[in-house]
Order: sequence, then structure tokens, then C-alpha cells
Amino acid sequence: MILKNSFTKYVLVICIFLQGYESSFAQEGDQILDGIGETDLIARYVFDGDLKDWSRNNLHASTYSENVEFEADERFGKVLSMTRKKGENLILPSEILSNVESLSISAWVYLRSDKSGQYLLDFSTNGKSYFAAFPTGVGGDSNFKINIEDHKGKSKSISGDSVPLNKWVHLVFVYDIPSKAFKTYVDSKQIKETPELENELLRIFNSENLKNPTISLGGSATPEAESLDALLHDVRFYRVPLANRQVASIYFNAFRDVNQNIAHSKKVEDDLPDYPEDEAKLYNVFLSNVEDIKVETEVGSLPRLPSHVKGSYVDDLNGPLVRVIWPAPKDNELVSKEGLYTVKGKVPGTDFEPVATVSVKAKTNSSPPKQKLELFKLHQINLEEDQTGQKTKFIENRDKFLLTLAETEPNSFLYMFRHAFDQPQPENAVPLGVWDSQETKLRGHATGHYLTAIAQAYASTGYDEALQQNFLDKMDYMVNVLYDLSKLSGNKVNGKGNEDPVLVPKGPGKSDFDSDLSDEGIRSDYWNWGKGYISAYPPDQFIMLEKGATYGGQKNQIWAPYYTLHKILAGLIDIYKVSGNEKALEIAKGMGEWVYTRLDALPQETLIKMWNTYIAGEFGGMNETMATLYEITQDPRFLKGAQLFDNIQMFFGDAEYSHGLAKNVDTFRGLHANQHIPQVVGSLEMYRVSAKDEYFRVADNYWFKAVNDYMYSIGGVAGARNPANAECFIAEPATLYENGFSSGGQNETCATYNMLKLTGNLFLFEQRGELMDYFERGLYNHILASVAEDSPANTYHVPLRPGSIKHFGNAKMTGFTCCNGTSIESNTKLQQSIYYKSIEENAVYVNLFIPSTLDWEERNIKIKQATSFPKEDKTQLLVEGEGEFVLHLRVPSWAKKGYHVSINGKEIQLDVKPGSYIAISRFWKDGDKVDLRMPFDFYLDPVMDQPNIASLFYGPILLAAQESDARKEWRKISFDKKDIGKSIKGNPAELTFTIDGVEFKPFYDTYGRHSVYLDVELK
Ligand SMILES: [Zn+2]
Repeated sequence: MILKNSFTKYVLVICIFLQGYESSFAQEGDQILDGIGETDLIARYVFDGDLKDWSRNNLHASTYSENVEFEADERFGKVLSMTRKKGENLILPSEILSNVESLSISAWVYLRSDKSGQYLLDFSTNGKSYFAAFPTGVGGDSNFKINIEDHKGKSKSISGDSVPLNKWVHLVFVYDIPSKAFKTYVDSKQIKETPELENELLRIFNSENLKNPTISLGGSATPEAESLDALLHDVRFYRVPLANRQVASIYFNAFRDVNQNIAHSKKVEDDLPDYPEDEAKLYNVFLSNVEDIKVETEVGSLPRLPSHVKGSYVDDLNGPLVRVIWPAPKDNELVSKEGLYTVKGKVPGTDFEPVATVSVKAKTNSSPPKQKLELFKLHQINLEEDQTGQKTKFIENRDKFLLTLAETEPNSFLYMFRHAFDQPQPENAVPLGVWDSQETKLRGHATGHYLTAIAQAYASTGYDEALQQNFLDKMDYMVNVLYDLSKLSGNKVNGKGNEDPVLVPKGPGKSDFDSDLSDEGIRSDYWNWGKGYISAYPPDQFIMLEKGATYGGQKNQIWAPYYTLHKILAGLIDIYKVSGNEKALEIAKGMGEWVYTRLDALPQETLIKMWNTYIAGEFGGMNETMATLYEITQDPRFLKGAQLFDNIQMFFGDAEYSHGLAKNVDTFRGLHANQHIPQVVGSLEMYRVSAKDEYFRVADNYWFKAVNDYMYSIGGVAGARNPANAECFIAEPATLYENGFSSGGQNETCATYNMLKLTGNLFLFEQRGELMDYFERGLYNHILASVAEDSPANTYHVPLRPGSIKHFGNAKMTGFTCCNGTSIESNTKLQQSIYYKSIEENAVYVNLFIPSTLDWEERNIKIKQATSFPKEDKTQLLVEGEGEFVLHLRVPSWAKKGYHVSINGKEIQLDVKPGSYIAISRFWKDGDKVDLRMPFDFYLDPVMDQPNIASLFYGPILLAAQESDARKEWRKISFDKKDIGKSIKGNPAELTFTIDGVEFKPFYDTYGRHSVYLDVELK
């Protein structure tokens, strides 16, 4: 299989319910194999009879010849055998080395000859070798030898004792970029020599010279090469520098059953700098007092304790509110009856223990807020250039996506659907790669994102007729093909077939349901699949999930069928909403009925088990989509169907509904972030359509906890070191430093996409300033920052360790990971949340300060916002048309130096509180102007449990230190304790600054190495 696009890092991983991380076990699948999170694995070749990559990245190996031999081995079963024949060496896909920061390679090798010059590995471009490993030496020397060389001829050799013959030996090579070191392990012991590498040698993986390298395993990278004389087993490539203990885990676990995945996820080796627990940091150094607090709650619901309380500082220092870390119970026992109790908090690094006195009151019948606002349609808001006539970053990013989307070929996005239904492909149709390639069980997911993206693109391009027509044509074509395919399902052929979704039989000639998608193995009896069925694979994965199938690459395993389906249904509904395409709605209804019919036939225990099955049970926002289908059709089956997706453990604690997020119990610690955030988005949608209070509470409580206890400064919420999975929430709330900053990257971009969706939707119910403060933070500092400089390539994870670098993938939209999927959605609706309106059409909310025009057609009013924000700290709103309405203006929480409002040049006096909205109600006349000025200030955003590790902000903009190299240590910066701005020089109009000679730029404008977090001292 050939992947045409650059392979993007990481894989979709969803965590199981990890109960305490001290000794957690991987239930199923490979998410924490040998103590290493799946996101860190690039490829794994077990070689038990084929050359397939066992990771879901589909980076299968191949050979120059047909000479592939396997033989039985006592220790490992079937293994690959190489016998020094020409062409026997394996060629691995060059994508293995693209976007690689650090690299670790682990291999089991059984050498049968000590002949010098045998290559185990060779990375070459045009015949030039950049990395070569010789286990039996080279050039007559029998010592183990590794050569690393850059394109300028700078080189380093590492040698060790020769590798023993005729026995299995475990070899590991670790290319540790932040430590500038190269390590070699033989049978888990590090060989002595660990050279420091110079910068040139460190950069070879990212250099132009090693673009599209030939990676050869078991021989040099030429067809004529003679191969090794050896057996090979379980060769793995990791994108992180493996720690000593992880190397040992791979080695020792191989002595057990190789297929048994025991996760050693005690605390992973801590490779971040450690600080003494009793050492006060940052503003805490100057604390003289921290106030106690009083809070109220109702019986059954844990209180919402504020993350920050008032403190006082010595020397009249005007320090910020003090971060307090409160205990986080796992149930609601403390509030089982009325009364008073106290909770002691911690202030990191100090002896302060502020007390919260909680008064537990009787249950009241208070209800959550009702929906007051709604979104404008995408075509009603248009992005504009800034005051200097420049395109804003928003326009730049939008255009990168719209123009590339316009050039995409819909048949690529339909390829696997036609394949599933055994229909002919149009001439020259090319399948997508990455997670939509033929044998990937998630295929079709990108198609769903694509449907949403072209719907939004269509709605947003009213300013360009040709472009808009392009997207309309694409929508119609996609829907017509999908409609015709869906009509085949359950439709009798020659009198034979099955209409009933519950009665789908096994595939013809098969003894069981399976997920085989190979040409030979895939079933194509669509007449048996039940009416309305649509997906890019046969229905087996859905049925297997009900029967307990787990996640994995084998035929009896699945990926995440409902996750993929959610994207497809959401895309169809989006097309229906923007264009009224009835066929799109009909497909969605048909499949919605199919889903409802199957799930409604299952007992609740089965559903609970399904939705808690690691990865396999990930369902995206199926609850949201089914609820929306109900809203559109008023068919009660869809509402009931939506409810069948309740994640009962997370929402309600257990089958008795005794606690859970609905009662403010943190039930999501340690879980996979992006598996669960869309479920919470769905919960809010359930509240919207069903008015059941508990669904609102799930969403509202989740949001508060996520933003206060799990968030990185860019707005991302995923990235656990414990549990060892970069896509999970940390194992315990408010321990980001202790348990977060996973080495494989953090901040999965999908998770922030979904956080913004949740945040914007919550604001429709409750117009709290903190919601839009978060929205602005995530939009500017993650979503805007996730796109490449000159193409729509975009990030999966956004790493925030010192000196890290963003990696962008999918520039041509030909192979999508999940985050490449959500990015085509994010970047086709960047204007969506600048303004909201009241449902009653009598109020407008100005949430964001982005040059734009709002066309409030319902009121025949336009509002033009003219600004160069954030390159200036003011904005102007010009009203066109007239009428009475309330203008709600956001006062950002960072606007602590004032907020000035003038109407038609006259400043008005208002009681303004940062982190809120002000309301101006009047009869607005054509030409009325509102001027807002909100001076920016510098401030720090510290990590809650290690406050010296902090990000620097200027107004809403995160400023990142520009770095030349990867770093092991955080960059140290000191600021004036009374006014940190005193230590900063620069040009606010360009948002470029220097501190002690180090350049700082907005993170959204940073494409090289960066330090988002600094080690800060106040002087
Ligand atoms: Zn993602």
C-alpha cells in the first residue's frame, strides 16, 4: 500500500477507564503496550507470517523480490528469516521518518553469522546513508557499530561489543533530540558510549536531505544488497526517546506471552525537571495570607469550589488571586445529607491550607438556564481585512482551506463507500490514505468531516459565486452517490435480502461477523444489510461491538464504528441545514433508524459495556446527532436513540445514577479526552431538545472542571504522562505538571475543536464571560496556531515541552487523521462565534474582536467591526440600519487596565467588570459608532501545581519564545515582580517582543521551535 501524503503522526487512541494509575492494566488493545502509549508508536512489525504494520498507521513493509521467508521459532513462534540473499532486505515506508522529532527503534534479532558489514538498518537518500547500524561491525572490525552522518559529511560513530550469535538479542536505538544524545541498548542494558550529538546531526530527520528516505531493514538500501543472515521479530519504531524503564519493559515482557499486553503504567520515568515540593514559586513566594471561603451546595451534588481565592502579599505586592488545589472526591458521599463540612485546600509550595466551609442545603427545584441565544448562519458573518488592509490570520487560514477544499476530488472521499457496496469506481478515482486506506477500519471518517466542511464552505463563500457553486456541486454529487448506495442496503436482489437492521446475517460463506476489508475478505451482500444502512464498510463492525469485539487490527477486532458514523451523519445533516438537500436528510434518517432499531433491541448492560469499551465503543457525538435528527423530524425514536448513547458511568456515575458529572463528581480523570468531550457536547444537545436538567449539569460541570483542572495555556486539555497516553486527561485533576506534559506531545487538536463547540453552545444558555474568555484563548492560541504557514497542513498534537516544534500534515487533503478531519471543519467556520443573537431577535452579543461584517438580515441591520486587533487594543462597531436592540459587549477577563466605551465619540460611564459583558440598550440609528478600547497587559498563566512553569500572555495572545534547538530544560526567564512588563521590550503593533535577548512572538505565528512554557522567577 502506498501512502501518497506525508504520514502524520500519532494515531487515534482512546483510553479505557483507568482506575488509579499506580497499577493500571490495559484492558484490550495496544494503547499502552509495554508501558508506552500508542500515540508514541509509529510502526510495529511482528513478522509472524507477513510484513504488515501492526499499528493502525498501515506502514506495511515490502521487499525488492519475492524472497520472504518465515520460519518456526521456539521462542517467538513464527519469525522472519533472512539468509543473505539479494533483495531479501525489507523496505519500510519513508513516512516512518517524516515529522519525527526523537526516534527509538526496538528490534529482536537472532544473528547467524558474524560476517562484517551486515546492515541491520539503513536510512538513505540517493544512495547516501544517513544512519546505518552494523551489529557485527563493518570494515573488518567485528564490533557492533552505528554510523550517523549528515549531508555535509559531519559524522559520528558509536561502537560496542559485538552482538552474540545464535541467540535472540534485543537491540534498541534511541535518538534523543532534547538531550542531544544517542543511546544503544543490548538486552535492555545501555552500552557505555552515549555521544552528545551536534545540532547538524540532530536535525537529520527534519532536514530536506532526509525527505522521502529509503528505509531498509536487514540490508543496505539497494536492490542488489545482500541481506542479513538472521531472524527478525517485533521491530518497532517510536517517535519518542524511550526511557530506560520502557526499554526494559519491552525486553522483559517478551519473556511472557508476546500477545499479552500488560501495561506497566506506574508513574513513568520523569524526564521533566523536578522541583522540591516545599519550595514556593512565582507569586506564592510573596504570599502572606490566603483567605478561607464559604460555598453552598445541594444534597447530592458536590460543591463547585473556586480554583482561585483571594490572598495577600508582602511588600504591597499586587499579586493575582491564589490558585488552590482542592481534594477531588470520586463520589458524592460527602454531600449525602444536609449540614456543614469543611475541606482543606493546598497552595503549591507553601504551608497555606485555605479552608472551604461547605453548607449542604436541601434539594431545591431550581432549573438550569433555558436557551436564550442562537448562532447566526455562517453566511451572515463575513471576515474582513484589518485596518491596515492586511489579511488577518483568520482570513489567511480560511483561504488555505477553502482553496484546497475546492480542488479536492469528491470521488476520493467516496472511494471506500463504493468499495464497500462493490460498485465500480469512476475512472482515475484515487483512494484517500492514512485512516481511510482500504484495510483501515476507520475508513469513511474523513468523508464525514468533508461533508461538514463543504457545507460550511458553501455557506461561508457568498462573497465568491464561483467558489460557492463549486461547493454546491460537490455537496450534490456526494449526496447523490451516498443516497444511491444507501438505497441498495436491505433492498432485495432477485427476491433475496433482509430489510431488518436487527436481522443482518453473517456474510455469505462466513462462519462469523468479521471486519475483513481486504478485496478477498470483504462482504458485499448489501441486500442483507438492513434498510437505510450507510458506511464505508459493511455492518459487521457495529454488530461485533454489540457482541463484545475489542479494538485492534485483527479480523475479529474493530476500530470505532459509531465514531465514524457520527462524522457521516453530522456531515449529511450539515448539508441539509445549509442547502435544504432533502436527500441528505433522508440518508441520515435512514441510518438513524437503523441505529435506533439495533440499539433499542439491546439490554442496558450491553450498552454500558459498549460505551465503556476502549476505542471500539468511541461514538463521537452520536447522541448529539440523534438529538438533532429528533429536533428536525420530531420523530421520538431519534430522541430515544440519542439517549441510548448516554455514557452512564461518566454522566451519572453508575446504573443507579448515583453521582457522576450530573452531581459534579469528576468521573473523567484519566479518560481519553477526545472520546469524551463530544459526548458532553451531545449531553448539552440532549438538554436543548429534551429539557432534562441533568444533561445540562453534565455539560456545565464538565466544562468548569476541564478548564480549571486540565487545561494547558493554549486551551488544550489532553496530554497525560499518567496514564501513559498523550491523548488522555491526566490521572488526577489539577496535577498538570505531575501527570501531564506527556513526552509524545499534548493538546490533541480535535479535543480543542470540541471544547470550543461545547463552550460556544453553553454560552447560548448562560452568557458567562468566562466561557468566551476560554473560547478566545482556544481559538487564537490553539486552533489558529494549528495551521502551517503556507498550506492547510495542520497539527495533530501541539507539543508544549521546551523547544518543541509543531508538525503539520495533510497539506493536499489526501490522507486524514482525526485532527486533519476536525481542522477542515474548524477552518471553514472561523467567523461563527464573533457574534451571537438572542432567539427573540432583540439583542446581539459581540464576543470576539475580529474584523468582520454581521448581516443581521432578520432585523435589516448590519454591524461592521473595524479593527486590527490583536495588533491594536481597540475596535469599532458601525451600525447600518436602525432599530432598538441591546448590544452586549464582551469585557475580557484580561482587560484589567480599563475598558473604554464611546458612542458616537462620547465616552460613556459604565460599571465594568473584567470577565463579563456590558449591555447597551438603545434605539440605534444608521451610522452609529461604538468605539471600544481595552489596553493590553502582560501577565503570566502558571501551571496549577508548579507555578514557576508559566506561559506569557499579552492581552489574549500567548507569546512563545522562539527557540533554535530542542531543549531538555525549560527556558528560564525572570521578571520584575511588581510589573512584569518592565522586563519586556518590543513592538505591540507587530506583537514581537524581546526578553533578555530572546525573541517572543504570538504562538499562532510561530512555525519553528518554541517554548510556550517558561521557568519564571520574579525579582
Ligand atoms: Zn484528533
